[in-house]
Amino acid sequence: MAELEIQQFPCLSDNYGFAIHDAEAGVTAVIDTPEVEPIERALAERGWHLTHVLNTHWHPDHAGGNEELKRAWGCTIIGPQGEADRIPGIDVTVAQDDIVDFGGHRARVLDVPGHTSGHIAYWFEDDGVAFVGDTLFALGCGRLFEGTAEQMWTSLQKLMALPEATRIYCAHEYTQANARFALSVEPDNPDLVERAQRTDELRAKGLPTVPTTLGDELRTNPFLRPTSPALRRTLGMPEASNVDVFAETRRRKDSF
Ligand code: ZN
Ligand code: FE
Repeated sequence: MAELEIQQFPCLSDNYGFAIHDAEAGVTAVIDTPEVEPIERALAERGWHLTHVLNTHWHPDHAGGNEELKRAWGCTIIGPQGEADRIPGIDVTVAQDDIVDFGGHRARVLDVPGHTSGHIAYWFEDDGVAFVGDTLFALGCGRLFEGTAEQMWTSLQKLMALPEATRIYCAHEYTQANARFALSVEPDNPDLVERAQRTDELRAKGLPTVPTTLGDELRTNPFLRPTSPALRRTLGMPEASNVDVFAETRRRKDSF
């Protein structure tokens, strides 16, 4: 088993594609299939042969390229059991605590419903990497299209329990807009102020803000911070439960 190589590249208007590779095992996967052309280009650049697709959820900007890539490569498509009927070309279904063996790299599956009803994340524990799709974003979290705030909060808590150094690969570059919202609810968080500035600098240079780390998110992402007294003060919810504070934060972001 070699080091897990990760290649990240933009797709569509604000998605990221990720190709992962183990040179010894000769395996290559893409995490989701937002757009075939940039995926093919990324594979060609390194001479990687696509063997697997790991889907996080059924949305077309995540599974839309499945069938074309399967036709081209004959790759195995792995995806969430809870959305098997909505994932084009799916071969293998996985759910909570299943292990995906990727050339010896073990990815634990985490059920993280909320954005969609069967959304999953892939946690490569030994590599210190998690692919979280549209559940957790840098300074944000996914919209609640098919789930409740309770479900999403439970899902986010699963991710919050990972080691702080875990590199979080989220599927969209939304960080600048997320930072503006985060500052509106926790304006005096010094880590957040610093991070918003760093985000602007990166984006001004056209550089990605993904991956992030769980530790950075715990310190600055308002959706992971319902216990923050400052956030609760802004929302006027000093005594509310964490899930209620999370739900109100999500509600405010929807109309921000
Ligand atoms: Zn989505
Ligand atoms: Fe998406």
